Amino acid sequence: MTNEELWKAVLGEMELTLSRANFITWFKNTSVVARDKGYIVVSVPNGFIKEWLENKFNKKILQSIHNLSPEIREIKYSIGRPKLEFAKQDLSKIILDRELEEKTEIPVDLDIDKLTNLNKRYSFDSYVVGSDNELANAACLAVTKNIGKLYNPLFLFGGVGLGKTHLLQAVGNKVSENKERKVLYVPAERFTANIVEAIRNRTIEDLKNQYARLDLLIIDDIQFIAGKEKTQDIIFSTFNELYGKNKQIILSSDRPPGAIPALEERLRSRFEGGMIADIKPPDFETRLAILKQKLAGKNAELGDDVLVYIATHIQKNVRELEGALNRVVAFSQIYNKVPDVKEVKNILNTYLNAPYRKTSPQSILKAVADFYNISAADLIKRSRKKEIVRPRQIAMFLLRDETKLSFPEIGQKLGGRDHSTVIHACEKIKAESAVNEPLKQELVLIKERVYNSFDK
Ligand code: ADP
Ligand code: MG
Repeated sequence: MTNEELWKAVLGEMELTLSRANFITWFKNTSVVARDKGYIVVSVPNGFIKEWLENKFNKKILQSIHNLSPEIREIKYSIGRPKLEFAKQDLSKIILDRELEEKTEIPVDLDIDKLTNLNKRYSFDSYVVGSDNELANAACLAVTKNIGKLYNPLFLFGGVGLGKTHLLQAVGNKVSENKERKVLYVPAERFTANIVEAIRNRTIEDLKNQYARLDLLIIDDIQFIAGKEKTQDIIFSTFNELYGKNKQIILSSDRPPGAIPALEERLRSRFEGGMIADIKPPDFETRLAILKQKLAGKNAELGDDVLVYIATHIQKNVRELEGALNRVVAFSQIYNKVPDVKEVKNILNTYLNAPYRKTSPQSILKAVADFYNISAADLIKRSRKKEIVRPRQIAMFLLRDETKLSFPEIGQKLGGRDHSTVIHACEKIKAESAVNEPLKQELVLIKERVYNSFDK
């Protein structure tokens, strides 16, 4: 089987399990570029896609590859540059980039505990606490000392790459030090997949009993159960079961419970019934501390000025911060030298010069609709339902902010609405986002989708 055939077969399988839009978003412009003993290298268009494939789809992809080519046990993802850019670069730069990319590759974690799903890599010791995550960190620590008794459930929320999974797993690792305790960490998407499979195999009662026996159930990225009724059903009954026995539940999400669309009221109120802690992007001091901590674990030396440079320029999230650091460390290892700020600036070019931000009204409408779990057509229709009106206002606001459309043009795009309606919506969302943290985060998340989507 050639690489191309292999990947085609994998894509065919993935397509069956995903919505069309999702499939295109994550798998467009991917290909297998290399294959060696036990692993393949998949080229992806950008870091965002890479992250998602690694974190959300790796297992599924691996499974489907395994069926076709059992010797492959690992997938490495590599960011392939769009062809256009090659012309502008000289060959040595391309080679360096390749080399850097390879060295920057974070090894696939093989030491995930089969029983708990926990990865030992995540601990409280390796988690840097700053003002933006101290509440979440404290709440998690407190839970490890009072399982099921203090904050139940504990609900963490915050943007991508801010350390939610890290904290959740740190709690799991800590709690499972006591071997008598049954702990399970599960991403919501896998939770859903397990349920679907159990229903198909008529083992749903077994699965429910399994959950009911836990001392600690951790569900990561719970926003993914939006609109999934059966999953919500099972979560609800599991929740009641565990809660009734003082067993601990911890959840994470990219947004607060109230902002998860198509979430049953009874679940929402359960999620809000314990402790809610948010994680905000780290400030400069925390970013610097994180860099120092991550550097300490590596065999490399970097000047403080270089760390300050990275911490100043990479602000969005910790994962990116780590990626940038890895890249600089890789450079210093390849060239066997301590890079200065000027060199670091060059090395980080791809991080700092994000591609020109360009979007279309369609991609904004689609991103908003996807985010709120409605269809883009709903945004345009005349419906006055609350679940539609709000996303529509947000779409208007984003269209105004992110494109050059005039108010009347925006009204046109949204089913011929009057420009005064658009102005009102834009002002409302703008004013609200200044004081309403969850809304601000929602806008960030939607924009993230707009600019990282290739489904245009
Ligand atoms: P999320 O689940 O919120 O998307 P992750 O927990 O996956 O984010 O974090 C992304 C990466 O950044 C992980 O490698 C994690 O270990 C690291 N990380 C995030 N926050 C911190 C922190 N405060 N201290 C140390 N490492 C962190
Ligand atoms: Mg996570």
